[in-house]
Amino acid sequence: MTMSFLQVRRWLLAAMLASASGAHAAPDRPQFVVTSAETLSSSSLRHLPSDNATDSLGTALKLLELNAAQQHLLTEHVHHQEGRCGGYFAFDSRREAEDFLANGRALQAMLATAGMAYNIDNQGTVEPWLLQVTEANIRATIAHLSSYQNRYYASPHGATAANWIANTWLALGGGRSDVQVELFTECSNCSTQPSVILTVQGAALPDEVIVVGAHLDSIRSGAGSEPEQFAPGADDDASGIAVITEVIRIALANGWRPQRTIKFMGYAAEEMGLRGSRAIAQNFAAIGIDVVGVLQLDMTNYRSGVSHHFHFISDRVNGPLLAFSKTLFDAYLVPRGFVHRDISCGYACSDHASWTENGFPSVMASEPGSPSNSFYPGLHTASDTLAGVGGTADASIPFAYFGLAFIGELAKTSSGTFLDGFEATTLRE
Ligand SMILES: [Zn+2]
Repeated sequence: MTMSFLQVRRWLLAAMLASASGAHAAPDRPQFVVTSAETLSSSSLRHLPSDNATDSLGTALKLLELNAAQQHLLTEHVHHQEGRCGGYFAFDSRREAEDFLANGRALQAMLATAGMAYNIDNQGTVEPWLLQVTEANIRATIAHLSSYQNRYYASPHGATAANWIANTWLALGGGRSDVQVELFTECSNCSTQPSVILTVQGAALPDEVIVVGAHLDSIRSGAGSEPEQFAPGADDDASGIAVITEVIRIALANGWRPQRTIKFMGYAAEEMGLRGSRAIAQNFAAIGIDVVGVLQLDMTNYRSGVSHHFHFISDRVNGPLLAFSKTLFDAYLVPRGFVHRDISCGYACSDHASWTENGFPSVMASEPGSPSNSFYPGLHTASDTLAGVGGTADASIPFAYFGLAFIGELAKTSSGTFLDGFEATTLRE
């Protein structure tokens, strides 16, 4: 659905009333989970009955039914023992989980050659954008999103935060007729939390879609399903949403009109099994949307005691898109003094995995962390605050640069700036 401000507010009210009346299924119902056999082999989880499975890559997986307490046990394990954000996929029924396994297209997604030319020829658009990236804007969005009690998917706060993101992105659209904001609610296990999608319609190749996403939910390990848990989630992943918000602001403030369609996404319920992104990717695959490139940003704002600034995730992503992403980094970030490294993050580690499993080419970038941790060690705790990650958004700046380069060079610029009802020059910084 596409919504105006008022419609967004009406939707939220309706969702809350539906929730209060029990029209939404309880968030604590059993889930059928697909995770790696390696994860399930840990001493705290190996007692759980499970069936063996494999994916299209031959990865040893487990399929198991978990009650709410067991889901939280698994979630805490992948978050704290393995230091990962996601870690598994969750489904309402065994049938859905089995279909997901049977139809998995990860191998195809990883090896697929580009259905478009990868080249760098849009410096005229991208370079002026980079000069407009403002640390204070990114910091302000992180500060706001981490000011909610939590953004837990099954808490009223989680729906309120999603609504704020939708309204903020809608305002950045400035009423342009080619910009739409949508609340994606076709997710059976996302409780009352919608995913948020801002679409900029492509002017020349509207059927080819670029996706840039981050998850909007947060969680506190050990808090179970408590709707009032304190889970500020400043780094994980308010930072990713804040980077995307700054990318949207700059691209639209300059009146940019892309050749390809771009969809910026804030995903629901990533922390409980990539639920929002899986629902969207599966829906897009089912209706035949041609997603030609996906960028996931999960945790961008923690850098301490390391010489590099940026991680590319090297496993379960598309090879040619990763190679082109590094070419983009070399062209736009290396001259500004930034350095990247590769890390792997394992099975289902964040929302890009939902796209990979559904056959779409994806890449993921994340913060450099510290010498001892690839990610902020306070993730999923009460310490995941703006102050906890240093009080500034400096570490996120290269991610905003990269996001702008990614959309500018993948979606390209349509000839003629979009000025319909929109005074681009007055919004330019
Ligand atoms: Zn995360």
